[in-house]
Formats: sequence, C-alpha cells, structure tokens
Amino acid sequence: KRVTDRYLKREVLGEGTYGVVFKAIDTKTGETVAIKRIRLGKYKEGVNFTALREIKLLKELKDPNIIELIDAFPYKGNLHLVFEFMETDLEAVIRDRNIVLSPADIKSYIQMMLKGLAFCHKKWVLHRDMKPNNLLIGAEGQLKLGDFGLARIFGSPERNFTHQVFARWYRAPELLFGTKQYGSAVDVWAAGCIFAELLLRRPFLQGSSDIDQLGKIFAAFGTPKSSQWPDMVCLPDYVEYQFVSAPPLRSLFPMASDDALDLLSRMFYI
Ligand code: ADP
Repeated sequence: KRVTDRYLKREVLGEGTYGVVFKAIDTKTGETVAIKRIRLGKYKEGVNFTALREIKLLKELKDPNIIELIDAFPYKGNLHLVFEFMETDLEAVIRDRNIVLSPADIKSYIQMMLKGLAFCHKKWVLHRDMKPNNLLIGAEGQLKLGDFGLARIFGSPERNFTHQVFARWYRAPELLFGTKQYGSAVDVWAAGCIFAELLLRRPFLQGSSDIDQLGKIFAAFGTPKSSQWPDMVCLPDYVEYQFVSAPPLRSLFPMASDDALDLLSRMFYI
C-alpha cells in the first residue's frame, strides 16, 4: 500500500504519543524510513497551519545526532512525518540484560546525546520530552535524538497513562512545580536522569505522582533552600516539602568514576 506515490507502507512499528508509527520504503531513495502518523482531527485548523510551519523549521535541524525529518505532509486527514529508520532505542538497550555497558559505552552514548542536544539548543529548539525511548540507536550504534521539538508543537496532551508515567521520571523540578518559563535546563536535567539510568540500569527517580517525583528528587539531592532557589516559592504549583539534606552523590552511584559524578552533579544543577 502506498502513502502518496513516494512511500511504500510496511509493518506497524508501534504506537507512540502522537499516533501510530510504521515502517516504509522511500521509493525516491530506496531507504527504509519510519513514518509517524499524527491524528490531526483533534486539533483545530489553525493549529495545523502553525504545526506545519514549525515542522518546516525542524526539517532544517540537521545533525549527526538528531533523527532526520525527511519529509512532512498531510494525507487523508493525518499529518505524516517521515524519519530515518533506526534499529532500536536506548530504553531497549538499558533493559536488555544481555548487553554489557562498559564505562566507554556509557561515555559514548552520553557524548552523542549531549552533542545532539547542544546542536538544537544552539538553534533555540528545546526537546522537552527527553527519555530513553526517544534516544534512537542505529545499526552502527550511533545515537540520535528523536521527536525534537514535537512536544512544543503538539503539546503533551492526551498522553495515555504509561506515557505520562514514564515521562515524569525525567522532568525537572521547575516543570513539576508548574513553571511557565523554562529553558534548555529542562533537557539537561532529563539528560542527567538518562545518564544516571545508564549507570544504574534502572530509572533513577521513579516517582508515582508529580508530588512523589519531587519527593524523590529532594531525597536524592536535598530539599532546595529558598536562598538556593529564590523563585521556587512563587511557582504556580509550589508546595512546601519537609527539609531533607542530601546524601553524598557517591552513595547513590557507588560504581561511577569521579568524572562521571562531577558531570552528573552539574547536570542536576547541584
Ligand atoms: P513515544 O511517543 O512513546 O516516544 P514514538 O511515537 O516515538 O513513541 O514511537 C512509537 C514506536 O515506533 C516505538 O516503539 C519506536 O520504537 C518506533 N519508532 C519511532 N521512531 C522510529 C524510527 N525513527 N525508526 C524505527 N522505529 C521508530
């Protein structure tokens, strides 16, 4: 079956936040691609135009550590986003107990992740939804960030429960307190959580609600004092937490090198 005359549809790869993802062959290049079909029905007409305009900008974001958006078009009432095809993602790698992750492997994944992030932040594009299953891994082990900018264009509404739960573990404290003004630091925070997850081989801060997530963050890094974060008490969803002091970071990551801990602590702004 064809999607326009350019793409030959293959099997479904999975269901994502925004809709179904399927494999396809790009007859123009012969390459395998992944097509995300985004339901537009729920969005107002105006949003479609804005979305398409912004998606045009994403097509210009080309970097070895960013998933390339090859094409974008509306078709049969759905928006179709065509990406380069990737073999697997970091979540699957972390979960697969048969895969050994040496310090060199972790370093290399983190470097690729941060290079991709730096490239986009330099162009003033935030990711906003960094998590291990958005870090795609190619056949040669190259890591690329997926879904760049989509969270901002489409928002994160109508996420089903699992999506919301998994995304929560990577959310920065200012987001959990409901800030409306945030910057690239929210992606760096999430990248720190992913770094920690590579070291631990399990999600680092697994909150069961937004309140619990902040509790987990403060248990790990200490409750921030208002002298450290004066704006905190003004944030829309601010609630007071009982003061706890931070355990040594080393106690949470017994096997990590000093350099790894140094980088990690800076990514968590501590
Ligand atoms: P989520 O919204 O949960 O992050 P996605 O919409 O990114 O999920 O993807 C849904 C499914 O499609 C996932 O299982 C993922 O493995 C697969 N997928 C997404 N992008 C690609 C890609 N570029 N290449 C291969 N598979 C992909």
